[in-house]
Amino acid sequence: MTKHPHAQGGHPGGTIKDVYHKIKDSGEGRQHAHQFMQNKGNQLRLVFWETTGGCNLECVHCRRLDVSQELMKDDLTTEESFKLVEQIAEIGDGTILVLSGGEPLFRPDIFEIAKHAKKQGLTLALATNGTLVDEAMARRIVDAGIERVSISLDGADANTHDNFRKLPGSFDAAVRGIRNLRSIGMEVQINSTIAKHNVHQVKGLYKMAQDLDAIALHIFMLVPVGCGVQIAEDQMLEPEKYEEILNWFYDISKEKRIQTKATCAPHYFRIMRQRAKEEGIQITPQTHGMAAMTKGCLAGSAVCFVSHKGEVFPCGYLPVEAGNIRKQRFKDVWENAEVFKKLRDPENLEGKCGICEYKKVCLGCRARAFYDRGSYLAEEPYCMYQPKAAAKKHN
Ligand code: SF4
Ligand code: SF4
Repeated sequence: MTKHPHAQGGHPGGTIKDVYHKIKDSGEGRQHAHQFMQNKGNQLRLVFWETTGGCNLECVHCRRLDVSQELMKDDLTTEESFKLVEQIAEIGDGTILVLSGGEPLFRPDIFEIAKHAKKQGLTLALATNGTLVDEAMARRIVDAGIERVSISLDGADANTHDNFRKLPGSFDAAVRGIRNLRSIGMEVQINSTIAKHNVHQVKGLYKMAQDLDAIALHIFMLVPVGCGVQIAEDQMLEPEKYEEILNWFYDISKEKRIQTKATCAPHYFRIMRQRAKEEGIQITPQTHGMAAMTKGCLAGSAVCFVSHKGEVFPCGYLPVEAGNIRKQRFKDVWENAEVFKKLRDPENLEGKCGICEYKKVCLGCRARAFYDRGSYLAEEPYCMYQPKAAAKKHN
């Protein structure tokens, strides 16, 4: 059984920036673009679709419990996939569809589906492990109208990455894939899952992303889920270490050498505000880019995940099913699922997140809360912050 499937190591959400600029540069202007980013109406912005459960790798941190090196029998058919992209497009403007997996390039009909999605007006990104991207594949990706490709690199050297991905040669193959894409102008985002085994390499990853001419580096904080549950105990970083890494990430974001994003580390949005306050600067799109206009966890309020067999989840790491597109219309699930309604209101948060002054911009990781406490509304276990209201209580 696929419990809560895996996309390729994170969110190619950088394309939201492109949508923002498209709106800003159109007749609608800056204010409309700001409203788009703030998303007060919980408009769907990003859908991560696990196009297949099959993958050629067996990564240690993968959220899938079953690993298939072939396409899976219960993957959505081409016809069902067409219907899904039509239904996603029907919901609204500017939605980005991320074709992920498993390994999306395993699907022989992936470009047919991509072209159909493009025709419906969706913005497309592809999340791949990069190992199958030779020159011909890179060309097909560009020709299908995909606007950004994210590739996972979980180490700054082959040894670290290959050990994690359980396939010798996968680092070199991924780097080759990145070069093939860059050589024909495709935007490449590097996703890196940070855990104990590679935390000492974060600076190396930052340098490598620049050397490879990537447009963005997204560091993803491990969520103890799927196969990842087995490694969580010894691979999860301590909250203090998260704090240190996120502070370092804040520092490098100011260098503006490359787009940087701390993914699934919602308390980055708290750290950003604390640091800006210490520095006496206001957070604006000019000073802090897109991070100034969005918030920490977007699961269920702007983002959702569709599994390879049509189940809809708030994100790929939170196994609380909102519905199934094999049985329901996607719009109905997005608008009416109970779990989405609860996630959209920060007043529902519990524990210290519930009394935290940063809850509206952070929300904490709902998936880590779920795994730690069995409730997706519980407090985020990997944030070391003590909200002011909690401190008062203890005094
Ligand atoms: S619950 Fe939110 S922060 Fe956590 S993994 Fe999902 S999208 Fe990321
Ligand atoms: S306590 Fe919760 S809401 Fe507050 S910063 Fe930490 S994770 Fe975010």
